[in-house]
Amino acid sequence: MNDTETAGCPLCPRELSVRTELRVHLMVDHRKSAVIEEYVARLEHRDESAAPAP
Ligand SMILES: [Zn+2]
Repeated sequence: MNDTETAGCPLCPRELSVRTELRVHLMVDHRKSAVIEEYVARLEHRDESAAPAP
């Protein structure tokens, strides 16, 4: 049931239902930016703590 949390894209107004979808969206729609790789890396690191965003 953890997949119900939402994650907003930092580069566009789009909102993804799951952090995994945000990861895919970033890689597919914004993969031209090198910043995305760093952002995705942070997302993966944050997954370990599983802390819900406020
Ligand atoms: Zn986006």
